[in-house]
Amino acid sequence: MSIYIIIFIFGAVVGSFLNVVIYRLPRGESVVFPSSHCPNCNAKLKPWHNIPIVSWLMLRGKCAFCGEKISYQYPLVELLSGSIAFIIFLKMGLTWIALGITVVFLVLLTLSIIDFYYKMVPDSLNLLALTLAVATAGSFEMFQYNITNALLFAGGFALLRFYVSYYLFNKIKKQSPNIKQASWIRNYNTIPTYVEAMGEGDIMIAATMGALLGVLYLTLRSGYTWKACMDRSVKNHPESSGLKHA
Ligand SMILES: [Zn+2]
Repeated sequence: MSIYIIIFIFGAVVGSFLNVVIYRLPRGESVVFPSSHCPNCNAKLKPWHNIPIVSWLMLRGKCAFCGEKISYQYPLVELLSGSIAFIIFLKMGLTWIALGITVVFLVLLTLSIIDFYYKMVPDSLNLLALTLAVATAGSFEMFQYNITNALLFAGGFALLRFYVSYYLFNKIKKQSPNIKQASWIRNYNTIPTYVEAMGEGDIMIAATMGALLGVLYLTLRSGYTWKACMDRSVKNHPESSGLKHA
């Protein structure tokens, strides 16, 4: 079998596990035990019901026991996971760094789906993504470079959050005459109509993005293209990256 197919299947199998994580983690259930079962009729799934993408297609999106509809999310997450593993392999080959980055992207995919359903992300997965994104480095210098970028992104997003909160508060205040005080006297969070545009979880996501992508502005300023920026921040030693030239 071609290595490309093996990599895709590896990703899709991990995606099948991620579906379990997406279902169970927010409910406070163990992601390992019990083994896969239908959430509607509780019937234990047979091994051939667990084949990524294929099982869903063969069952036509329905539970084999009770006929309950199975969400499109299941084959979609498996397909995306397989594709993520495949694309990173194409770009970076079969290396430990590629594996680390694949895991980070798969955790980010899981976070995205949980975020979609709950408008919240669990710290456990968020911290895992950040830790792996920083730790995935080929050298100590790259590790330091990752930390620097993570901190820059986290700081930038934390500050951006203040700007967005300030803007939103003043917008809401204009529409609500019963809020009498100036915006800076009360904590933004005590205003009942306050809508949080960016949660604290976003700061961690931003840090993960920073560790993965590097600082685009510094890199662009020193005359590199976006692609070179990606290549350098992901693959290479920091001395050849834009940070030193900036
Ligand atoms: Zn069922």
